Amino acid sequence: MHIAIIGCGQLARMMALDGWRMGYTFTFAAFPGESVQPVEGLGEIVEVPDSLRGEALFKALGEPAVVTVEREDVDTDMLRDVQQFCNVYPSPEAIEKCKHRGVEKSFLRDIGVPTAPFALADCADSVAKGVAEVGLPVIIKSCQQGYDGRGQWRLKTQEDLDTWLEENQVSMEYIVEGVISFEREISTVSVRAADGRCAFYPAAENHHENGILLTSIAPAAFADDALKAEAQQITQKILDALDYTGVLSVEFFVTQDQRLLVNEMAPRVHNSGHWTQAAGVCSQFANHLLGITDQPLGETNPVCHTAMVNLLGKEVDKDLPCRGNVQVHLYNKSIRPGRKVGHINLWDIDRGRLEQQMLSLKESIYQD
Ligand code: AMP
Repeated sequence: MHIAIIGCGQLARMMALDGWRMGYTFTFAAFPGESVQPVEGLGEIVEVPDSLRGEALFKALGEPAVVTVEREDVDTDMLRDVQQFCNVYPSPEAIEKCKHRGVEKSFLRDIGVPTAPFALADCADSVAKGVAEVGLPVIIKSCQQGYDGRGQWRLKTQEDLDTWLEENQVSMEYIVEGVISFEREISTVSVRAADGRCAFYPAAENHHENGILLTSIAPAAFADDALKAEAQQITQKILDALDYTGVLSVEFFVTQDQRLLVNEMAPRVHNSGHWTQAAGVCSQFANHLLGITDQPLGETNPVCHTAMVNLLGKEVDKDLPCRGNVQVHLYNKSIRPGRKVGHINLWDIDRGRLEQQMLSLKESIYQD
């Protein structure tokens, strides 16, 4: 079966690497100027100009059975256009709910899913009003195209707000969010097939540095066991409300008083789910392909604890001990400061030993 993936990054690469083993073939649609190295050799790579629409677009994508995405920042009109010829999963409507922070948070509020307090803004007055409503400290986030901590500003005081208003021409849409004092950050990765069948991986616990994911460990250790079930219930509610098909990731804050607040959703395979390449489960990449092609879904219950350390602008150390529980994934990208160029998965039946190994690996990678 032929699948077209919009985007040529590492997520497309890992979907295709698993997909080839499962008998799928791929075309990748490149954004103008996008680096395509991660998917080189894994299928045809095509540039899709805005002018290419309808049957010509479908043909350029290799007449796929399904079109899917590796990022939310895609032209959903283009996806709607190609929907006349084949399935598009996740649906353009679901992607639209995730790609705009304001739409996303409003959707979550409407279906009764708890989030940080927020206000929407698009001018200096409404930013100031939003800050007054939510209460300092706040995080101002641009509604579109901000990710990995980009397009975000933390304001603690009225002075910070005044300076921010002076320095930023408020000419786009923002969300003003209350700062949550969280105990930990977790995320769920789940898959839903078009007929509503679902499979849930256990939540992972994530650590970010400068807004970018650095490590994940799964299953997350919950102080309160009931939260585990609640994370899955909330995820199910979102999947059903979106009538979702494919892998969806949901990021949560676990507050100091043991409540779950959804931070954001990603309509795709997710960095915090890379651990699923280990631990004896069907990977999130394989399960996404199974979900969007209406196949039986794969195993999601890990046989041991798993950890992941991202390689951000770092080469893998050639002296890394070649032990049976170390799995290195490289994305075929050139190294630039902070750039996601690979990750390392580790696993162990002993949680404490795994945490130690993860921390010392992280320290050895980021010692300078
Ligand atoms: P985001 O781009 O929304 O995923 O934010 C990146 C990171 O910033 C999150 O993983 C959190 O560590 C932090 N963050 C985002 N929103 C909030 C918030 N409302 N309160 C506290 N920390 C936040």
